[in-house]
Amino acid sequence: MSDYNTLLKELGLDVALHDEMIKATDRLFQETVGAQKNRPKEMAYFDRVLAEAHGARVAELVEEKRNGKRIVGTFCIYVPEELALAANTVPIALCGGIQASIPYAERMFPRDICPLVKSTLGLAFSKTCPYAPIKSLAVGETTCDAKKKTWEILAGKVNFHVMEVPQKKEKLDFDLWREAVDDFRRKLEDLSGTKVDSGRLAETIRIMNAKRRALQELAQLRQAEVVPISGVDALVVMQAALNDEPVRFTEAVKRLNQELRERIKNGISVAPGAKRIMMAGCPAVMGNWKVHALVERSGGVIVWDESCTGSRYFEHLVDETAQDLDGQITAIAERYFKISCACFTPNQERIDAIVRRAQEFNVKGVVQYVLQTCHGYNIEAMRVEAALKGIGVPALKVVTDYSEEDTEQLRTRIEAFIEQLA
Ligand code: SF4
Ligand code: SF4
Repeated sequence: MSDYNTLLKELGLDVALHDEMIKATDRLFQETVGAQKNRPKEMAYFDRVLAEAHGARVAELVEEKRNGKRIVGTFCIYVPEELALAANTVPIALCGGIQASIPYAERMFPRDICPLVKSTLGLAFSKTCPYAPIKSLAVGETTCDAKKKTWEILAGKVNFHVMEVPQKKEKLDFDLWREAVDDFRRKLEDLSGTKVDSGRLAETIRIMNAKRRALQELAQLRQAEVVPISGVDALVVMQAALNDEPVRFTEAVKRLNQELRERIKNGISVAPGAKRIMMAGCPAVMGNWKVHALVERSGGVIVWDESCTGSRYFEHLVDETAQDLDGQITAIAERYFKISCACFTPNQERIDAIVRRAQEFNVKGVVQYVLQTCHGYNIEAMRVEAALKGIGVPALKVVTDYSEEDTEQLRTRIEAFIEQLA
């Protein structure tokens, strides 16, 4: 990483503070991801993506920018990546998963908001986010209150666009959402000076669908009785998905899948005898491996991850049969409208999907992962738990932040939960 310090300095970053934060994140990575035994060899690629997220990937994006592309920062998986790619821009997720940046956000923002939002803001405010100075546009959405109100503040400081994500899934809401998708297209066109044409959009839809298919296959491989990859490693893959160039990433996932197929064939499990667990709830973005690692060190192995750094990111494909731009925009809107974030009401599809996957993946228990002050996932956890009870699968709700203060307390609760599972 130090090779890139000159570049980071040129971008106006506080290099000394940045180094400190990277060291803290590296330590956590080594203690959680790196400390695992029997990792698939192909994981080396994804480890590198994470290690280079503030190095080689930044240099790559700076080069893209020099070549005329605009960088678009995003904060949510409702933002259609195929549209951004088709408009000759590069979308990149800006969500923060580290504790070290949070105090910088708390100097300005209330303490009692979600750690994901605070970590993201703290990275920007402390001049340690390399993407902040190179992005030409940030795209927020009307999902939760913490985000909506944050965008109002940020919009006064940087070029900002807010996508209207409705809160219900009726026809009226879909029409609004489709318009929001089309409005985003126009915004991107203004930014890049490139008209989105149907031919290029068909190509970027195929690129994103190929990425989703590869991730769907990876998820499916975790259904095997011989679990070929840990939940922590599967999370690393998803964290890389939000940062890496999509075509290169897809090829790496295919190579990993091939290795996992071999492992299953040869009976190589990462956790023989461990209890099969589903994680459900909030996303765990880059820098955050805390609860996944605790679950897998307490006798569990995660076989399904129902989150935005899990199935919500790759489930459902965009219909590739639309012939013109209008039809393609509708197809994109339809695919993203199927994502079941807890910001929707009611959100029965999410609950049904959790129950279905718990059965398909022979899950013995579900850990509901809730980031502090995330009311949507916290309250919805009651309905999820009740539905799981109906099929005899116990659930444990874990409400936490990014700090390490509650680690021992969580360990005790998670160990006790996993121990009593059938
Ligand atoms: S949890 Fe909801 S708001 Fe957060 S990234 Fe996922 S879809 Fe977006
Ligand atoms: S985890 Fe919850 S509170 Fe935090 S940004 Fe996502 S939806 Fe909002």
